[in-house]
Amino acid sequence: MKTWIPDSRQFAYLTWKQVDALPREETLLILPTAAIEQHGHHLPLATDTLLNNLLLGRALTHVPADCPMYALPPICYGKSNEHIGYPGTLSVSATTFMAVVRDLGASLHTAGFRKVVLYNSHGGNTSLVDVMARDLRAEFGLRTFTLFGSPGASFDTVSEQERTYGFHAGEIETAFLLHATPELVHTDQYTSHYIARVEEPELLKPEGSHANFAWLTRDIAPSGVMGDPVAATAANGERWVNEAAQRIAEILLAMYRFVPRHDA
Ligand SMILES: [Zn+2]
Repeated sequence: MKTWIPDSRQFAYLTWKQVDALPREETLLILPTAAIEQHGHHLPLATDTLLNNLLLGRALTHVPADCPMYALPPICYGKSNEHIGYPGTLSVSATTFMAVVRDLGASLHTAGFRKVVLYNSHGGNTSLVDVMARDLRAEFGLRTFTLFGSPGASFDTVSEQERTYGFHAGEIETAFLLHATPELVHTDQYTSHYIARVEEPELLKPEGSHANFAWLTRDIAPSGVMGDPVAATAANGERWVNEAAQRIAEILLAMYRFVPRHDA
């Protein structure tokens, strides 16, 4: 898999003796969680995994070299059963996903690390990541943080409809990959579906509201796209990646320095 993580920030490129010599109580480790799942006719299965790596890799280039911070190898397989029925989607169950995160947390705790960030780029993992952040804190005393998606990106040219309901293989994800891996974007294969319309104030929403309905992609978006990629450009993708990378770097530094009140 392609990577934008600098070699000097790759945890798995260290030897165990180098890990042993780290200031482990201080070191911030970032565990990416992503997915391998259908992204319409035009984007690759690895879209969420590539975007996670791209944003994290670019962010880490803004972190001072003397700040001990490493990216762990990603959990590429996520809870993607909303996309079951599309060949190529590789999903794990909620219990499998949580067990892997828990066991990695146990390994890090045993090795003497205290600070872990769960950086998630796939919506289907979000609720599990929230659960596991608290569980790693409770079970192992790890100072655990969560980080989602692309904070700081302005998405300034994106319509309100696309911003709200363009959440899978739409303009934003397509723009990011047109910038980062244009060879993997099939620009002659765009399709578009919207799960809901912003101008229609339905009582029940697909997600993020007080009252939601559970959905499967095949029910509402046969091609697998939720959103409209047609307005995506590489230039916008580059600009948004740079904006997000700056913000993510600031957030990672805040996590590195974070001391909660009454911390034992
Ligand atoms: Zn995606």
